[in-house]
Amino acid sequence: MSKTWCPLPWMSQAIRSNGDIRLCCQANTAPGRGILQHDDGTPFNAANGGLIDSRNSQLMRQTRLDMLAGRWPAACLRCQREDEAGLISRRSYEITNWEEHISVAHTQQKTLADGSINPEDFPVRTMDIRFGNKCNLKCRMCSPMDSNSWYEDHYALFGATYQEPSGEVRLERNSQGRLETTPIKYDWYESPTFWTELDQLIPQVKHIQTVGGEPFLIDQYYDFLERMIERGYAEETTLESNSNLTVLPERALTLWRHFKKIRIGASIDGTGKVNDYIRHPSKWQLLEKNLHRLDKAEGQFDLWFTTTIQVANIYHFPELIRWKMESHFQRFNNRRERPLVTPHVLHRPTYFNIRILPPEAKSKIAAQLYSFIPWFEGFFSGRPDATAMTALYSTNYKELVDSFIKYMGQEDWSHEIPKFWAVTQQLDRLRGESFADTFPEVFKMLEPYLSSAETKKYTIVKTL
Ligand code: SF4
Repeated sequence: MSKTWCPLPWMSQAIRSNGDIRLCCQANTAPGRGILQHDDGTPFNAANGGLIDSRNSQLMRQTRLDMLAGRWPAACLRCQREDEAGLISRRSYEITNWEEHISVAHTQQKTLADGSINPEDFPVRTMDIRFGNKCNLKCRMCSPMDSNSWYEDHYALFGATYQEPSGEVRLERNSQGRLETTPIKYDWYESPTFWTELDQLIPQVKHIQTVGGEPFLIDQYYDFLERMIERGYAEETTLESNSNLTVLPERALTLWRHFKKIRIGASIDGTGKVNDYIRHPSKWQLLEKNLHRLDKAEGQFDLWFTTTIQVANIYHFPELIRWKMESHFQRFNNRRERPLVTPHVLHRPTYFNIRILPPEAKSKIAAQLYSFIPWFEGFFSGRPDATAMTALYSTNYKELVDSFIKYMGQEDWSHEIPKFWAVTQQLDRLRGESFADTFPEVFKMLEPYLSSAETKKYTIVKTL
């Protein structure tokens, strides 16, 4: 097999939050970001049709030819780097995932000399749809690109513009005084053309991933699920989403029970006030109630907690694990290979990255995280399988914590602390919150920098 072959260019469709169609979400890091273009250079956008025509766009054709010839396509830079570093790339994951549906030999036989395909030879099996930026939360680490709830805070902190991959976006007030974005709009999914094209693909698709904003706020998503059920394709289709789960309509629970499988990664960054501070204006009680509703809902579910490890919550990671264990969920992270949570470290914005913590804070946090390990023994004590369970869970916990500590210690970014304080203090004022009250232990570690000349002179565009 060609060492650069991947099934996605033959059988997948991916849509960015502004509706532009792209090769795949991994291509986001490469020059051009994998966006598929018409011959005149304008992007294919799902609002205007193009789901079908873009399959033979120039980038798609070239990518297929490169892969069949064993060359790395320029758009696949991230997978190339991961493969060359010996990591498990998305490419290798997708090869395993789709081996029953597509083979290298079939792509060799049916791909034409210019890289184009007959869509009938290669049905679209998987779709990745990002439904704009409509979201009910404005998480500290997020931005207007992914949440329209962030518009006012961004305007107050950083001014009236921000950068999208395709260029500068301006925030402007409409006649009702509400901020809107120009020239990019994120409401492309309101276009009937998109849903008509998507309906045509229903018989082919086996897996649909939806991301927001908050995907469970999109009414048209539920209408679409209803049409899949009516046409008899639901039980062959897996639905997958990342969600903040502060919204869980009964309509969703009713429709999901018809599908082959529902896979949901729930974004939870801590318990109680830790989560509510980071994921403003989330309400922990409501969120916890929804998690238990989903855990007991009728249907085939695969659920897990995704936790974004950052300055605010790393010290509180043991509390999250303790809550997860004591809640006795049946479905969340119920596989032996990841029995706790499924965390990842935050990379951007860099001023919330755990690498900004000063060396002495990193040592204190490492000691705090490791001090939790003996807790597992007490938790399982008295069970006949206590020894095995303690080993399984404490090993998983230690692996996670080791990875945070290793990442945190690799570089010293403490020069970013003044920016951390500037943004944190101003967001606290805007939102009526207090980092000091919510995270007293980490506040003490960073307090000496609060009054530094560097922090004081730091200016963000608009001073409150
Ligand atoms: S090789 Fe990687 S970047 Fe390229 S299409 Fe496959 S998954 Fe996407």
